[in-house]
Amino acid sequence: MIIAIDGPAGSGKSSTAREVARRMGALFIDTGAMYRAVALKALRTGKAPEASGFEAVLQETDIRLSRDEDGLRIILDGEDVSEAIRTEEVSTMSSRVSQRPDVRRRMVELQRAVARTETAAGGSVVMEGRDIGTVVFPEADRKFFVTASPEIRARRRAAQLQQKGERVDENVLLKDITSRDSRDSSRKVSPLRQADDAVVIDTSGCTFEEQVENILELIHGND
Ligand code: C5P
Repeated sequence: MIIAIDGPAGSGKSSTAREVARRMGALFIDTGAMYRAVALKALRTGKAPEASGFEAVLQETDIRLSRDEDGLRIILDGEDVSEAIRTEEVSTMSSRVSQRPDVRRRMVELQRAVARTETAAGGSVVMEGRDIGTVVFPEADRKFFVTASPEIRARRRAAQLQQKGERVDENVLLKDITSRDSRDSSRKVSPLRQADDAVVIDTSGCTFEEQVENILELIHGND
């Protein structure tokens, strides 16, 4: 089974998708992590993704996924960057690199390959991102579009960062989130869009447990 979960930044889709996958015994694939790895490479090389010549950087970029007991680790040029990609600087850069059709092509290929290996071995996959139900797996068995108001998303993101000991300004986060949404929704290639056949889950007024239960019921209820 392939479950596609899409939605904007900070909607709670990532933690929800991870828990849904855990309870289903499925492999959780966070596709944002792959764009973040390319973003980290852009930051490290100092090359703007809008510049011509970025394709050379991309050609010299090796992105792999490696499995451990918690799921998939993301490996950039041989280095495990699973933690290093979780900064606001990388978030902003990831929505810039993800505008590039060549980056998207590479990432989509990788995403399909990982999911197909898993399903060929009899496993299920919960894949989370922006274009999973529309582009990566339009034939997914179930599709969800998880969303919440920008204010709630900024508040949740602030709480997450504070937990990690980072100093945050909720208003700055709100601005970052809305500009990332608008870049992700207005890009030419595979914009953030709800698939016509996706079930919309608005998490503004629900607890984490309710979101997870709701999705699991919708997955199993239609079997
Ligand atoms: O999900 P996450 O916030 O980690 O994604 C980081 C960025 O990667 C998004 O803002 C978006 O620009 C890009 N992305 C994408 N397509 C996906 C997943 C993420 O364009 N399937």
